[in-house]
Amino acid sequence: MTRLCDLAPSNIRAIAPYQPGKPITELAREMGLKPESIVKLASNENPLGVSPKAYEAMQDALEDIARYPDGNSFALRDCVCRKFKLQPDQLVFGNGSNDILELAARAFLTPGTEAVYAQHAFAVYALVTQATGATGISVPAKDFGHDLDAMLAAVTDKTRIVFIANPNNPTGTLIGKQALRHFLASVPKHALVVLDEAYDEYLAADIKSEALSWLDEFDNLLISRTLSKAYGLAGLRVGFGVTSPAIADLMNRVRQPFNVNSVAQAAAVAALQDDEFVERSYALNQAGMLQITQGLAKLGLGYIPSYGNFVSFHVSNAAEVYQQLLKSGVIVRPVAAYEMPDYLRVSIGLHSENARFLEVLEQILQARS
Ligand SMILES: *Cc1c(COP(=O)(O)O)cnc(C)c1O
Repeated sequence: MTRLCDLAPSNIRAIAPYQPGKPITELAREMGLKPESIVKLASNENPLGVSPKAYEAMQDALEDIARYPDGNSFALRDCVCRKFKLQPDQLVFGNGSNDILELAARAFLTPGTEAVYAQHAFAVYALVTQATGATGISVPAKDFGHDLDAMLAAVTDKTRIVFIANPNNPTGTLIGKQALRHFLASVPKHALVVLDEAYDEYLAADIKSEALSWLDEFDNLLISRTLSKAYGLAGLRVGFGVTSPAIADLMNRVRQPFNVNSVAQAAAVAALQDDEFVERSYALNQAGMLQITQGLAKLGLGYIPSYGNFVSFHVSNAAEVYQQLLKSGVIVRPVAAYEMPDYLRVSIGLHSENARFLEVLEQILQARS
């Protein structure tokens, strides 16, 4: 007898599930550790937590929780328009920016079409592509970064989306503005370029993205931003896409009517207006990045210079080191699924968390030698 699950489309059955960072509560259960004693540097979350203003906004929003959210995110849309000097019809809001990536895929990909992305690029690009039945084309990386020439060469008549992560996760590599602009000008108009800028807030002023100002020029560009990283709202799930009105309209047709909840909308408005919190988060990340990379160098470990709030470092027996770190209550992220089996990715935390990570790592390496 045929089983129902065998009747699911083969592209769905072949999906390899996303491997998230291990939650603190799960490790506490597994190892019998106190949750407070665990350091999680595994999901590029903001170690400062959330803006106090956003926290207050969330509490206020709870009063109205019996009501459906505003399906058009009016207040949030207005806030984003003012902050980034955009028009309301250029925006799509998502349940995290992962939702934006998925909406783009749902709007443009079908079996027989193709999506292009880079080797070692964010795993969600391959996932959302495969879910549509389209063909994912992974283009070999160059020095762990996007090889734009090779990606351009991989674009065919069937290509509908090219995914670019800038900076990329988990490698932390950044494409320079000129190279990116040249690439955008070269991609044929039958392909949408999805430019994922989840870590833009962690870039120094002189290298921050200017892509929002390129939207007038490229009507096949979609820029995605998230509130999960520097804005500290990962648990609430809010992100947005900025694109041409015609593309935003298509994406809005395939999204759920209430995909961004009311607490998230309220928190996002407050978070986007709290520049001081984002500046503090940036400064903490700069200091922590120095602390961790200097610490890794002292341990003789190589790392990929990173523009994000995380860094991937080289260590032999990475899977074993990951397990040993877990036993000591330190959660980092294995990246074997990104074709980087000899690397681990660590998120930049508070000074004390970074120190604890380096200390435990040193003990593990010493015990091995
Ligand atoms: C973390 C991350 C995101 C953000 O995902 P959300 O769904 O907004 O939490 C998007 N893209 C990349 C490359 C990331 O690393």
